[in-house]
Parts: sequence; C-alpha cells; structure tokens
Amino acid sequence: MRLVFLGPPGAGKGTQARALAREWGVAHVATGDMLREALAAGTRLGLEAKRYMERGALVPDDVIIGLMRERLAGPDAARGFIVDGFPRTIAQAEALAGLLKDAGQALDRVIYFEVSERELLRRLTGRRICRRCQTAYHLVSAPPRTPGVCDACGGELYQREDDREATVRNRLEVYARQTAPLLAYYSQRGLLTTVAGEGSIEAIRSAIRAAAGAER
Ligand code: AMP
Repeated sequence: MRLVFLGPPGAGKGTQARALAREWGVAHVATGDMLREALAAGTRLGLEAKRYMERGALVPDDVIIGLMRERLAGPDAARGFIVDGFPRTIAQAEALAGLLKDAGQALDRVIYFEVSERELLRRLTGRRICRRCQTAYHLVSAPPRTPGVCDACGGELYQREDDREATVRNRLEVYARQTAPLLAYYSQRGLLTTVAGEGSIEAIRSAIRAAAGAER
C-alpha cells in the first residue's frame, strides 16, 4: 500500500496517518515531523529548515526531495507507506513519481482531506502539543484535564511556533498557492479520492479505509 495524504495544515492528516500506518503495518512518513526532529537534534538540516518553518514557508524542494529519497529507500518503507505533508509542490510530486518509478513502484492512491478554512483556523490556533510525548490537544474541543498539563504523561503543553495565528494564515496561503494545484495534478492521473475531513475521527478513518480499499 502506497498512499499520499493531501490537504491543508490542520486537516487531520497526521492523526489519521499515524493510526492507519500502525493498523496496516506500513511506514508513516511525515516530512514535518522529520524536520522538527532534525531541528530538535540541532542537525544541519534542522538549522537550514528552521528559517522557513518559523515563517510558515516551504523548505526548498531540493532539500525535501533529498530527504524523501533517503527515507523511501529505507527498509520499513519497502512494505508500503503513508506519506503525510509531501508532496507540497508540483516539482515534489514529479520527483516522487520518479523515485517510485526507479524502484519499479507507483502510488496506489492520493487521499484529499477536505476541511473548511474556518475549521482549519479553529483547529490550528487552539492546538496544544505535549513537549514530551507529542500528544495533541485542543483548548476548546479536546482540552486536557488540567490546563497546560498532558493527561498521558504529565508533560508540559506548548503551542507550536508556527500555530500562532499570523503564521497559520501564511501557511494556509502557501497551501493555496503552492500545494492546492496538486489536486488537479492527481485528479488528471486518476489517483485522487476526496474524503470529508470534518466529523468524528472514527467516521473519517472509516472513509479513508474505504477510499484505500482497506475496509474491514
Ligand atoms: P507540517 O508539520 O506538515 O505542517 O510541516 C511543518 C513545516 O515544515 C511546513 O510549514 C514547512 O515549513 C515544512 N515542510 C514540511 N513538509 C514540507 C514539504 N513537503 N515541502 C516543504 N516544506 C515542508
């Protein structure tokens, strides 16, 4: 199974990809998580990515494509993958197709998460994340039992730098300008399935299973 989860920031791609990759025994490949790990570890990649990430801009294509080339050649991706947060430009989509073709592979499906802009803003600006275990909360719709403290591990909750409102608006604009053209790109190739990204997490998960041909 080789899938791409496509959609704006805050659409729920990460939440669903993490759970479904575990369910299906495939790799969860999230470029945003990989970059944040590089940043926390203080690597050269992390330092280079930082100035783009904190503005909500895209990291240059050649950097991200190099990262993905390595990641998809790794042993766990051989059993299949869900890519989340990539591709974000047409150049990245072309590069992905090339990488897979060289390996004698192809994408099975691209799943687009459709969520209104109002809902995206609500989700992103209210999002809080545990510094220790990365569990996500929402100040209003999914608050922790004690404000500022993670229910799961007692860690401190924080707001991602790029979840502040000014940066969120920029990320949504960048999505509309650079990433949304991928909808037509994948639709023309017969690969795109749209899933409603609003509703209960479980209902959305079932719709994704159906779109991926993996109903239970
Ligand atoms: P995410 O966690 O997917 O929202 O990504 C966080 C940030 O990482 C983005 O706002 C970009 O700065 C950077 N990033 C993640 N994936 C990509 C990508 N495929 N291309 C360029 N930049 C990316």
